[in-house]
Amino acid sequence: MKILKFGGSSVGNAERINSVIEILQKYYISKKIKFSVVFSAFQGVTDKLIEIGNYAFKHNPQYANELKSLIEHHYKIATQLNQNKDIKTLTKKLEKLFNELKEVVDGVYLVKELTPRTLDYIVSFGEKLSCTIIGETMLNRGIDCEILFADKLIKTDNNFGSARVDFKTTNKKIVDYFNKHKKLQIITGFISSTSKNEITTLGRGGSDYTASIFGAALNADLIEIWTDVDGILTADPRKVKNAFPLESVTYEEAMELSHFGAKVIYPPTMLPALQKKIKIVIKNTFNPEFPGTIILEKEKTSKFTVKGISSIDDIALIQVQGGGMIGVSGIAARLFGALARHNINIILISQASSEHSICLAVLPKYAEESKKIIEEEFRLEIMDGKIGKVEVEKNLSIIAVVGENMRRTPGIAGKVFSSLGKNKINIIAIAQGSSELNISLVINKSDLINALNILHKSLLKK
Ligand code: ASP
Ligand code: MG
Repeated sequence: MKILKFGGSSVGNAERINSVIEILQKYYISKKIKFSVVFSAFQGVTDKLIEIGNYAFKHNPQYANELKSLIEHHYKIATQLNQNKDIKTLTKKLEKLFNELKEVVDGVYLVKELTPRTLDYIVSFGEKLSCTIIGETMLNRGIDCEILFADKLIKTDNNFGSARVDFKTTNKKIVDYFNKHKKLQIITGFISSTSKNEITTLGRGGSDYTASIFGAALNADLIEIWTDVDGILTADPRKVKNAFPLESVTYEEAMELSHFGAKVIYPPTMLPALQKKIKIVIKNTFNPEFPGTIILEKEKTSKFTVKGISSIDDIALIQVQGGGMIGVSGIAARLFGALARHNINIILISQASSEHSICLAVLPKYAEESKKIIEEEFRLEIMDGKIGKVEVEKNLSIIAVVGENMRRTPGIAGKVFSSLGKNKINIIAIAQGSSELNISLVINKSDLINALNILHKSLLKK
């Protein structure tokens, strides 16, 4: 059994959905390969649903127009896909979904209240609609399948918007269901539900995760994530012209690379697959013959030590300095604790062994608030002069050089620093985790493109 997943851009319009169905026919159905397939909402629909919810919440009557055009958009695709076919069943199902959706957004408009719970319920229609249209279209074309709304099998806590999966219950439900349903399943991505059957979602981009949850529960041979690029690339092709797709990466590398901007796969997707050691392949819907990137536990051989160079383009650095920090334990704990209590996410930390300064990177929007929090936490130390000024520097970027084999290979850091040095690019801070999987550098934003290209050239020779 294989689990396939097609994302929003693969199902952006009728023409693209036709190509997806052709891919299924050509590579799976005609070859009698057993599989099930997860779909995202049609391209842009999740964003649209959030927008509609927010209009309604703000009591802006525009919500009704937007809803109307969303409904028309789906009917249009449904009709285009089923020309000269009887679509009574499909229309009936769509009417029912639209009535439910309309009822809830009208309610939001009336009471001017939009909780995370209601928002999850609203966005869940995106996947229900896409799977209903695609599934019914496939049935109309003689492909024997069933539509599965996965909220009834994937059980989560009530952390709406980004719920955590209860794997024990979920796995059992999935296995039971598939024991009773032998047909090809057309599965909604992204959506799940609490033990009280309230709809939750798995986080934006969560359809990948759905595929991995099903894949792991069913001990699939393979999970295929079909997207709109040739695989995981060595760098962002918009910034590095010579970026190229990798044949293979490890789960850990894929996770690191996807944390740092390369949005090819939703990072939590790796976990269920890794536990069962199920390989994930990234494939391109627009270039199906291309082998794509395979994500696995260990590569037999690897051509590259460094697998990718990615970046977070805009960060701020906060520098805390002072003689009073030397040899005093608990400073770092208080610093990070204070920021954590205010839900500020720290992207990178670096402390020199002199302990004279700690610097940390945050998103620029949190910079001023972080400075205030730190000054408040160390008010007494600052008064006594044990800690000096807390300084914020903006217009910086982080570059991450990622590769599991860096662990066993000396000289990579040397190469990174010397190639940047030769090109007069100043490095402001450095961090390397002890996993040695990732070397991160903070540089001026104005050097970013240049630095990425220099590093790519020196570390990723084809
Ligand atoms: N439709 C959801 C989103 O846009 C889930 C997904 O596409 O994976 O975030
Ligand atoms: Mg999406």
